[in-house]
Amino acid sequence: MAESVVPPAVSPAQPGIAPIPVRAILPWAVFFGVLMLVLLYFVGAEQGATSLISGETVHEWVHDGRHLLGFPCH
Ligand SMILES: [Zn+2]
Repeated sequence: MAESVVPPAVSPAQPGIAPIPVRAILPWAVFFGVLMLVLLYFVGAEQGATSLISGETVHEWVHDGRHLLGFPCH
């Protein structure tokens, strides 16, 4: 008589994953969207006439990001 040494695959009972309602996600999505737009502004347009902060400090901090994203630089 052949016996199997491998135990039968019994998956442990998994609790149900509760869906997250859109109303709970929407404020966070808007917040991070605005945050990303501000970041995109500082990477892409924070220099010259549109500069909010005088000097080249912000430009130097995000200089590699500008090149990575293809913004005109120098
Ligand atoms: Zn550059």
